[in-house]
This record gives sequence, structure tokens and C-alpha cells, in this order.
Amino acid sequence: MTDPHFLPSFPPMSLALAQAVAAGQRGEVPVGAVVVLQGTVIAQAGNRVEELCDASAHAELLALRAAAQVLHSPRLPGCDLYVTLEPCALCATAISFFRIRRLYFGAYDPKGGGVDHGPRLFSQPTLHHAPEVYGGIAESQCKKLLKEFFREMRYNNASNVLGGQHA
Ligand SMILES: [Zn+2]
Repeated sequence: MTDPHFLPSFPPMSLALAQAVAAGQRGEVPVGAVVVLQGTVIAQAGNRVEELCDASAHAELLALRAAAQVLHSPRLPGCDLYVTLEPCALCATAISFFRIRRLYFGAYDPKGGGVDHGPRLFSQPTLHHAPEVYGGIAESQCKKLLKEFFREMRYNNASNVLGGQHA
């Protein structure tokens, strides 16, 4: 995080990006999320799917749960969520259940996203609560991080196969 050009000028998203970078360094898909209430960051998290052996330990869910603990409330009305990647259907549903006011996300996810793609959760008429949604915040930085991670992963997998090192 030493390159100042890497950080967007939008502070909560830079914190989310820092969480994403840290997740990538732990070998997780680099996604980070931050919950903000009245200008204060009350929770932040990165993906911990591998570490927790939990396919649902997405950054958003971890950050939402942590924020709920901080506020001693199962719902978070008035809170905003910043996440580096378009939330999946699971996280989008959780965002609705937690009553998040505004959702800001970075990169769009045509394959796994559930907000602007796939089920488009927040457009469903049966949904009780939908946040205001702002996509593409610091999009290039968020995208770059994911791209580099998956490029490296493919490279490592390829060299493992070539070197016969796979267990
Ligand atoms: Zn998710």
C-alpha cells in the first residue's frame, strides 16, 4: 500500500481496499468491506473463506456481523456498506436483512454478482428492503487487485503442474 496512486480519494473505499489487499496476502480472494455509520467506520473485514473453512465467510457478511455486534443490534439502519466487489446473491440478501442504507461497491462482477447481474436481488418486488446502490466506486483499483490475484493463481497452478509439485 505504499503507492499513493493505488488509493482512491474516497476514504471508506480505501479502507475496504486495504482489507482486500490483506485478504489477498492471506491467500483469500481479495475482497474487503467496511461499514460506516454517520461518517465513522464501525467495522471492517476481508474475505476469510479459506481461513475459517466457511464458504459464506465473505467480507460483507463478516463486516455486517461485526457492525451488528458493535451496535448491539441485529439490523443496521442508517449504516452504509462499502465493498470492493459487487456483492453476490448471498451478501445482497444479507445487506437487505441488515437494512443497510447505502451500498457502495467497486468492481462489477458479471459472473458472481447478485446486484447488477444474476438475480438482481434489489430489483425483486418481494424484497422488504433495498439499499441505495452506487457501483463502480474506485472501480479500476478494485478490479486490478482481483485481476492480479487470479493471474498469479493461474500462474502458480500452471507452474505447479509443470513442475509436478502438486500434492
Ligand atoms: Zn458474498
